[in-house]
Amino acid sequence: MFVTERRHGDRALVWRSTPPAAPAPNTLWAPGAAERHPSDGPEWAPEFTIHQLLRPTTADDAVVQLAEFRQRINTTPAGGALARFLQHRPARPGAELGVPEPESLWANVLVDSIQARERVIAHLQGCQVADLAELSRNYPGLHEFLPTEIALALGVAESTATRKLVEAEAFTDRLPATFAALHAGDITDRKARAMHQGTLDVTPEIAQQVERDVLPHLPHSTMPQVHDPIGAAIIRRDPHGAQERHENARDRRGITRHSEPDGMGTLKVFSTLPDIAAIHAALTAMSAASKTADDDRTADDRKVDALVDLCTDVLDTGVWREKELPTEQRRRPHVQVTMPLSALLPGPPTGDVAQLAGYGPITPAQARHIAADGTLRRLVCDPLSGTLLDYGRTTYQPPAALADHVLARDQTCSMPGCRQPAHRCELDHTEPFRPGQPTGGTTSAANLAPGCKHHHRAKDGGGYRLDRGETGYQWTTPLSRTYLRPHTRLWQPVPEHAPVTPPVPPPPLNDPDPPPF
Ligand SMILES: [Zn+2]
Repeated sequence: MFVTERRHGDRALVWRSTPPAAPAPNTLWAPGAAERHPSDGPEWAPEFTIHQLLRPTTADDAVVQLAEFRQRINTTPAGGALARFLQHRPARPGAELGVPEPESLWANVLVDSIQARERVIAHLQGCQVADLAELSRNYPGLHEFLPTEIALALGVAESTATRKLVEAEAFTDRLPATFAALHAGDITDRKARAMHQGTLDVTPEIAQQVERDVLPHLPHSTMPQVHDPIGAAIIRRDPHGAQERHENARDRRGITRHSEPDGMGTLKVFSTLPDIAAIHAALTAMSAASKTADDDRTADDRKVDALVDLCTDVLDTGVWREKELPTEQRRRPHVQVTMPLSALLPGPPTGDVAQLAGYGPITPAQARHIAADGTLRRLVCDPLSGTLLDYGRTTYQPPAALADHVLARDQTCSMPGCRQPAHRCELDHTEPFRPGQPTGGTTSAANLAPGCKHHHRAKDGGGYRLDRGETGYQWTTPLSRTYLRPHTRLWQPVPEHAPVTPPVPPPPLNDPDPPPF
């Protein structure tokens, strides 16, 4: 409310507010509860404040305004009201006011603002968790394809969307106190996720005991200080469950890969400690065995090279433990590189970019290195050439040349964001093939699209629709939301201006006298 107040002899309209009472510690948010969290409302924050009405004219005024602002943002629960207070931060006092120690005063205002914004961010993440959990319980489509819906909406990888959903379900189901702390802005999203990760393999009862033990310490702990107490609390609360926890965790073993800048990538192996020790011991021994007198590679370099050699040997022979490797699109498993013809020629870099299917851009030099041992296939980068490969409605199984064309044209699965290389996908008729019928799609380049197993199923039975248009593949989700995956550009003209060639450094001067220091 606004009240009239006398300040320095003048009457002024001043906003007076009483910070709302902090939520009682035991009022945890529960799924399905009718009440909203106290920080969601009521909307008692002012539309505008004294700071916008009156610019301070004296040092005292400026100091009082900033003190009031700091008091408000430090005591208001995280939520819409706090966000609005932050929008109305008073301006930095001008030098003419002569505020004492202005740098220190303003730095404190900034630190308080940073803290308050951190609480608002955590609160919004808590609100998003609640939305995800509610959507997960009420999604009208097949639950299996909800991560696809979220991934498309947020422009994130489907694995990220899956993680968000799993965490949202866990927070609102197994970890209500962690969720309440996140929603109140008391702990960050990373700390909440650490609690989820740490308690994945314990019963809900033990998870909630661990929450009670650890949660009060989390607001002021750094991330390394978060993991240890969670681990210790689990051992204390569930001393007999170690083997069961290990077996549950073992069921989640897997390999993840990430593209990194500069044509690099990371492979992460999650498995039991004995497995990791065996892999490391073998690579260390292979690294030592591969060292020669003139080898200037480091031990780590040689370990990586040994692992790569091991895997490329399997790909080259097509046999593993006397078993033939299964084929992918009638070819043995392989890596696929696409590059402009001009990039095949060695020489100074021109700005040409090559693509490693399913991973991303690499330099022409890297592409030439891979192509040196591979089969080269000439591709004409003209979408019209696809019509020449139209084999009509008489054939369902695409002929090899047609399949090759589609795989090379699209490079990856046709779902936006999915990086599954096309040669590991299934070739799908965009408009279904109906043998012997006058209607139905053709087995032609224009009607074939690569879809990984998961996204092929999303289209055939998962409620998703795929249309191929002029500009790309258009996907329509079960909620009738549409997303475009533009056609893959295999070739781009090099930049108009040739890249600047770095100057060759001059040869060092052969000066026998060291410079004076
Ligand atoms: Zn896919």
